[in-house]
Amino acid sequence: MELSKSKTAIAGEAENQFYKMYKLLQKEVEQWQQERGSYWLEALPWGKKPPYLPLMDLPEAAIIEVWQRLNLIAEVQIPDAELRKLWKQFRDGQIVMNPEMISRLQMSISGVAQLAGKKAKMQGVPALDRGYIASDDPTASSICPVCGEAATLAVLSQPHGHRTMYCTSCSFEWTVKRVGCLHCGSEDAKQQMYLKSEEFPGIEMAVCQVCGHYLKEIDSRMVSVQDYLWEEMRTLPLNFAAERWLAEQAKKNNQMH
Ligand SMILES: [Zn+2]
Ligand SMILES: [Zn+2]
Repeated sequence: MELSKSKTAIAGEAENQFYKMYKLLQKEVEQWQQERGSYWLEALPWGKKPPYLPLMDLPEAAIIEVWQRLNLIAEVQIPDAELRKLWKQFRDGQIVMNPEMISRLQMSISGVAQLAGKKAKMQGVPALDRGYIASDDPTASSICPVCGEAATLAVLSQPHGHRTMYCTSCSFEWTVKRVGCLHCGSEDAKQQMYLKSEEFPGIEMAVCQVCGHYLKEIDSRMVSVQDYLWEEMRTLPLNFAAERWLAEQAKKNNQMH
């Protein structure tokens, strides 16, 4: 199904401004990883089974370290003690920060979580660990085996369109089965709906009509993506379109019954 262009367009200028700041912050995160990554790689706690390191168990000191560096770039001065309080509130599910502050926190969380993703790759963790019981099979799940977050981004790769999940929280990647819904397990092709927009060629939202879950699929045979996190943010209008479509379907179903 094609979505109309006007509905999905983001104002170009605002996107540029946002992208510039994002890139600056991203560079600072990479700098931190270069300077402090080997220290924190050693210090990370590590579970015996998936998820090996849930985001909420990441070391507070590491989060604050990165967050403070990003605040400096954004010229925001705030004492460490205050950040620790905000991090605790965030973990408790209370969001009392402005959106810029939250996005810097989220980039900090990802910056630390990426070390966990890297550790998993280095150790050869296994998305296909033998310790898995069948119902936890990661090839049938969109839950990241490293950080436990629900991933919503998949990459279809050359040449046969194999599907790889990409976790935007910790950057871990794992292979999943090609067809069907990774959330409810439905393999009924008629229940899987694909939404796309000419504005984002090569990207489709696979929406499951059984459970209402959706997945963004990037076809790397059609588009080349360097930065998956940015790609996810840039194409958020597709997520909103999928939400809208699901809401309309629910309305129609209600009218029918
Ligand atoms: Zn992850
Ligand atoms: Zn489903």
